[in-house]
Amino acid sequence: MAEHNGRMDKLPDKLDLIVRNGTLVIPGVGQVKADVGIAGGKIAVLSEDLNEPAAETYDATGRTVLPGIFDPHIHIGNEHAYESEAETETRAAILGGVTSVGIFLRSLEDSYFDHLPAFCQAMNERSYVDSVFHPQIFTEQQIEEIPGYAEQYGIRSFKFYMSGIPGIVKSVTDDVLLQGFRAVASLGPDAVACVHCETGALIDRAREELKVRKPEGTLADWEDAHPAVAEALAIQTALYLAQVAGAHLYVVHLSSRQGLEVVRAARRAGRHFTVETVTSYLGINSHDPNGFLAKMVPPVRTPEHQIALWEGLREGTINTVGTDNTSRTRATKRPEAGLHGSRGGLPVLGTHLPALLHYGRLRGVPLEILIERATRSPARVYGIFPQKGTIAVGSDADLVVVDLEAERVVRAEDLQGMSDFSPFEGKRLRGWPVATIKAGTIVARDGKIVAKPNGRYIKRRAAPARHFEWFGRAQA
Ligand SMILES: [Zn+2]
Repeated sequence: MAEHNGRMDKLPDKLDLIVRNGTLVIPGVGQVKADVGIAGGKIAVLSEDLNEPAAETYDATGRTVLPGIFDPHIHIGNEHAYESEAETETRAAILGGVTSVGIFLRSLEDSYFDHLPAFCQAMNERSYVDSVFHPQIFTEQQIEEIPGYAEQYGIRSFKFYMSGIPGIVKSVTDDVLLQGFRAVASLGPDAVACVHCETGALIDRAREELKVRKPEGTLADWEDAHPAVAEALAIQTALYLAQVAGAHLYVVHLSSRQGLEVVRAARRAGRHFTVETVTSYLGINSHDPNGFLAKMVPPVRTPEHQIALWEGLREGTINTVGTDNTSRTRATKRPEAGLHGSRGGLPVLGTHLPALLHYGRLRGVPLEILIERATRSPARVYGIFPQKGTIAVGSDADLVVVDLEAERVVRAEDLQGMSDFSPFEGKRLRGWPVATIKAGTIVARDGKIVAKPNGRYIKRRAAPARHFEWFGRAQA
C-alpha cells in the first residue's frame, strides 16, 4: 500500500472533517493528490476519493496541503509575561501555518522545577500550537536536575549558550558544557544538546572594538560584532565536546558560510549531528532597508552567506529550519538607539512559512525539500515523529492549506502577534496559508482565528530509533 493511501482499522461512522481535492506534500513521499479524512484529532484516512460522511468539509481545490509546520526554535516571554505571549505569539504562529513549536525556556538560573508547572499550564490553556520545551542550562544544579526534568516533564532537549546575550543570558564555559553534554547523553541516544555556537571571548572583544571604531553605524556593521570566525570555531569546540560526551549536538541558528564549511568538513569525517538555520538569515540580509528592526544575534549577514545557507539547506548539510522568534515591540526594540543601543529579537513566527516558500522558490529549492526541513526533519530530531511532521494515517491532524500563488505585502498588524513591527515589513511574499488545521479543528481561516486555542504541551518519552535522527549518516 502506498504511504498516501490508507485508513485506520476502526473508522468511525462519521468523520469530523474531510480536506478535499488538495495536493498533499508528504515528506519522503512527494506531492500527491488525495483527500484527508480526520477523526478524533488524528488523520484517519487518506484516499484519492473519499466518500465517507463527514461533519465538515474543506475544499482545497487548487491548494497545497502541508503537514503543520514545526518551528523547533522560539523564545516567548522575553517582553510580556510568559502566559501572555503563550497566547499572542502562538496566535501569530497558527495564522502563519505553524502548528508546533520548540520553546527555549527563559534563562532562569534557579531550578526549572519551580517554573515548569506554570509553563506547562500556559501551553495547555492558552496556546494555539503544541509545544515541546528546551530548558536553557546555566548552573550545576540545573545540570544535576536534567534527569528529573526528563522523568517528570518528558523533556529530552536542552540548550547551552557558549556566548550569551549581554544583560539577558550568561555564557557557559567549556567545563560546564562538557558536564551538561554528559548529563544529556545519559538520558539516551534520542536526547539532544542544543548549542548557541559562538566563542564568547571573540564576541566580547569584537563588540568592544566595534564600539570604539564605529560608535554609530548601520545594520551592515552589526555583523562585525559577531564575526563568523567565532561561530566556526565554536562549532568545532562543541563538536569535539559532544563527541567526548557521546551527546547528540544540535547547532542552533547557523548563520555563516564559515560555520557551514566546518559542518561540511565534520560530516565528511563521519560525524553525526544536526544543524539548523532560521528564516531571517535566509530572507533578510545585512543591507536590509528595515535596518535595526532586523537586528538579531547572531546577525543577518551579507548575501554571500545567504547563498551558502540556501545551498546547505538544499543539499541537507543544514537539516532543519526554525525562526529564533523573540517578540518585541518597537518601544523596546529601539531601532532609533542605533548600532549599539537597539536590541536583538525578532517577531517572525507569522512570516516563517511565507518567507520559506517565497525565498526558497526564488532560489529554486524544490517545495518538498523546503517542507521537509520545516516539518519531518525537526520532528525526528526532537522525537515527535510521526505524531508530527508528516501527513500519515495515525498522525495528529495538523495541516496547513496554502495558496502558493497568493502574494501579500507583510504588515505587522496582519500577523496578529503582540508586536507592532515585523523585520519583513513591506516585503511582498508569494505563498501564504489560507487555513490552518490543528488537531482536526480549523483554527485559522483566511487570515482570521476561527476557533479557541487547542494547543497541548507534549511530554516526550525516550524515542525508539526510527523516531529520531542524528543527521550525517547518509552523507557521502
Ligand atoms: Zn534562540
